[in-house]
Amino acid sequence: MKKVKVDRDLCIGCGTCTGVAPKTFELDNEGKSVILRKDGTKSSDLTDFSQIDDTEENIINAEKSCPVAAIIVTEEAPQNP
Ligand code: SF4
Repeated sequence: MKKVKVDRDLCIGCGTCTGVAPKTFELDNEGKSVILRKDGTKSSDLTDFSQIDDTEENIINAEKSCPVAAIIVTEEAPQNP
């Protein structure tokens, strides 16, 4: 399961991610990137890709495009019973 978060301390508010993946990222009133979730909430915290109305490709491209590596994608191996 892939998840994404934004490190708000690193984010410089350049807006690149919002251009690459506008359905996933938005700048908040502090000029930091937040993740748009399907339930209407916005958060910089770890968010499962399934909670985001965007393609995995767009999210990964945004991660790669961030000049300060503030977008962090993690992948958890499925849990064994
Ligand atoms: S691309 Fe990176 S630094 Fe720029 S707004 Fe997005 S998260 Fe912040």
